[in-house]
Amino acid sequence: MRRKGIVSALSPPYLTHTPINTLIFLLTIYTQYSILHPSFSSLVTWFTLLFLLMALESTPNHTQSVAGWAAHDSSGKIVPYIFKRRENGVNDVSIKVMYCGICHTDLHFAKNDWGITMYPVVPGHEITGVITKVGSNVTKFKIGDRVGVGCLAASCLECEFCQNSQENYCDQIQFTYNGIFWDGSVTYGGYSDMVVADHRYVVHVPDNLPMDAAAPLLCAGVTVFTPMKDCQLVESPGKKVGVVGLGGLGHVSVKMAKAFGHHVTVISTSPSKENEAKQRLGADSFILSTNDEQMQRGKRTLDVILDTVSAQHSLGPILELLKVNGTLALVGAPDKPIELPSFPLIFGKRSVKGSMTGSMKETQEMMDVCGKHNITCDVELIEPDQINQAFDRLARNDVRYRFVIDIAGNSKL
Ligand code: NAP
Ligand code: ZN
Repeated sequence: MRRKGIVSALSPPYLTHTPINTLIFLLTIYTQYSILHPSFSSLVTWFTLLFLLMALESTPNHTQSVAGWAAHDSSGKIVPYIFKRRENGVNDVSIKVMYCGICHTDLHFAKNDWGITMYPVVPGHEITGVITKVGSNVTKFKIGDRVGVGCLAASCLECEFCQNSQENYCDQIQFTYNGIFWDGSVTYGGYSDMVVADHRYVVHVPDNLPMDAAAPLLCAGVTVFTPMKDCQLVESPGKKVGVVGLGGLGHVSVKMAKAFGHHVTVISTSPSKENEAKQRLGADSFILSTNDEQMQRGKRTLDVILDTVSAQHSLGPILELLKVNGTLALVGAPDKPIELPSFPLIFGKRSVKGSMTGSMKETQEMMDVCGKHNITCDVELIEPDQINQAFDRLARNDVRYRFVIDIAGNSKL
């Protein structure tokens, strides 16, 4: 039953397998038959069938009204939205949302950049908050705990990836918003007063990290932590690391790579970010990617590059910055395909790999590492009614370095 819900999210044909859609199919047949044989039709049978349809609603326990903010079409405009969440189940925790970061992915989804948005969409997967309820099977959390929710809401729990704490690569993975939960309901994210999350997809926030500046770690942080771990950069110093794009993901990459003891080069299109990159974030070097001379000088200097760019751009010149055998890890997700020229790969025996967020185990590990090194994000706190302005500024590359929504209004206290 549980698996069915997840499968359903991924392949539109699932629609024919749910009780509701089977009933809709039967109703269609019934209607056609009624038209051909009017005597067959009666109001009573119609109402009986409609009643059955409502009774078979797959989410009868979605009784909690929650105030949130949603986009309803590809204009991406965010407006207040009241919706339903499920009751707290045995495996669930309820969380009063305090803060939610605005990831560029939220903007991609609000505007349907990737063509997969299910409207209305309540974005938000960089959530910090406090536990208000725990289900009877939950032992890891108690009421009052400071916790975080990132990108993941559900996975099959059975495949090799789920079994090996790599559930972010489960092919039935469901996300915190714009996903379909085990019960068949559409998931809504952290631009809302409260969330109900399965405890297996929740992490603890270390006591020393402030909840507002820690929120973006739940996506931006873990998304750059995992490729660093894959490339043996975590707590293992001495490499030359490049970071392309100094935005939300990029600025956390710089902080982490510096904390792990690497030499960090920022590769950016924004000259104005040079001083900040070096003085505020601790980068050692800065390359303006639009300056050919600087790009030439940077050739064959880096061991690993993290590319966090949200828009289409050319990979050839970036690959040239890698040493022989170097690795380019792509985490940015532009809506259009990126051209991958073969020559810089061949002549430098270089590799390109992708990486999608992190597993829950890695998310907790990343939070703990950030706690240990006191790594937080540089955030600009906003009120919920400023989300649209924040989206506009994010689209214009005008944020230092993450907008975080003060959902609970704590900054006003
Ligand atoms: P962001 O804050 O907007 O940062 C993106 C940065 O990319 C900008 O600050 C800018 O840096 C650079 N950039 C923007 N437009 C560019 C262009 N046309 N050419 C070259 N550089 C450009 O976004 P974010 O929240 O960090 O997210 C970045 C990307 O990662 C998004 O596509 C997001 O969807 C994706 N993402 C992926 C995952 C994953 O699991 N793989 C997780 C989260 C997010 P400069 O000014 O320094 O050039
Ligand atoms: Zn994100």
